[in-house]
Amino acid sequence: MTMAQFRCRSCGKEGVWVYDAERFACPSCDSIDVQFIVERHELAGNDPIAKKMDELAAEEAAKKG
Ligand SMILES: [Zn+2]
Repeated sequence: MTMAQFRCRSCGKEGVWVYDAERFACPSCDSIDVQFIVERHELAGNDPIAKKMDELAAEEAAKKG
């Protein structure tokens, strides 16, 4: 079980969230536009949040061109 702090960029909700491997959305508004507030180096390489962070970072980089 992984816990992470998050902030929702849609509704602004912040909190500590337990990642359950099925759900990757804001528990308040169900937006997937959530930002995780966790140090990448604190996560194991195979941690699902670490993987998601890498995906999101890649998407952000792609958007910026
Ligand atoms: Zn939200």
